[in-house]
Amino acid sequence: MREGSATSWCTIHRDRISRNLELARGLVPDGRKFCAVLKADAYGHGIAQVVPLIREQGVETVGITSNAEARAVRGAGFDGALIRLRAATLQEVEGALDDRVEEQVASVATARQLRALLDAGKFRTGMHLALNAAGMSRDALEISTAAGQDTCREILATLGSDIHGICSHFPSNEPIQLRQSADQFQQQAAWVFENSDLERSKTLVHAGSSLTLISDLNIDTDMYRCGAILYGILKPDLGFRPAMDLEARVVSLQDYPRGMTVGYDRACPLERDCRLACISIGYENGFRRVAHEGSAVKIRNTLAPVLGKISMNAIVADVTGIEDVVVGDTVGVFGEGDVASILSELAETQFRTIMADLYTDWGRRNHRVYR
Ligand SMILES: *Cc1c(COP(=O)(O)O)cnc(C)c1O
Repeated sequence: MREGSATSWCTIHRDRISRNLELARGLVPDGRKFCAVLKADAYGHGIAQVVPLIREQGVETVGITSNAEARAVRGAGFDGALIRLRAATLQEVEGALDDRVEEQVASVATARQLRALLDAGKFRTGMHLALNAAGMSRDALEISTAAGQDTCREILATLGSDIHGICSHFPSNEPIQLRQSADQFQQQAAWVFENSDLERSKTLVHAGSSLTLISDLNIDTDMYRCGAILYGILKPDLGFRPAMDLEARVVSLQDYPRGMTVGYDRACPLERDCRLACISIGYENGFRRVAHEGSAVKIRNTLAPVLGKISMNAIVADVTGIEDVVVGDTVGVFGEGDVASILSELAETQFRTIMADLYTDWGRRNHRVYR
């Protein structure tokens, strides 16, 4: 049984994730580390299935955000460093103690909580000072102000050499802005070393994601934290391939005369006689409602325009003139599947978003089949 009785399904190609990982690690400069980012259930691909692939290649560090993800990574047998890529509440920190999650610190309150857990012998792993460096302004500490520097000094006094890393996250990969962020981060990290007993050689100074790894600029970072590239979101020219296909089935074929309208609100009139296929996927499965104009699916290796507003569990495609279409045919919505390929550019245009958003959504809303 392949996709079983599912009406729409994601096929996850494990071999492609392995290959993408191999290619990505090949781009990492000598002496720098690599962190595989598996948050959001490995961008919708399934943590439990992806962990064995990264273990096979000896990846030493994994990035997650929630405790459930940390548990899933440990449950799949990963024993290396596990870093949380955002600030956590005390409740979260306590809930993740057994899974040895390395936490970020960017406030005095968090520093004191971590100090107490360290002193009680409960926290036995690393922590990272998170600097904003004119970055995301999400959860990290901005030390370009006197108040920020005071806070930083207090965090450093509270945690001292228990801080293992200094991290940031770049908000833009536009070259001039990336250069500015990277320089600012290094300057702020240097300020931290000047104002503490932390030793540069023992501290992991890390920022930068997939786009930093593939940037032509020479960006300084001790570790690259990469998600997107593992799932084939970037750089097809370097051999990276999407690892997820999204497919559904033709469940009905009907002929309708010119003058009928298709779908809700009568928004789509037929200008000629048409043969229409009803396909077993809708917005429940991540075929988003914004896609009602100008989108297409692949049937019998031909692009068929989607007509009318998207229903909850069904879409309608115009298959007039496409030979041999029958009920039960597999329909390609995305990917390099058996049936067809619909690639990222089209998907991002028709769903008006980025692939990371689509993968995390599709992976959760559909049955997943592993190859
Ligand atoms: C998600 C995330 C990454 C990985 O980003 P990609 O662009 O998917 O490689 C790295 N660092 C942080 C802090 C993140 O939240």
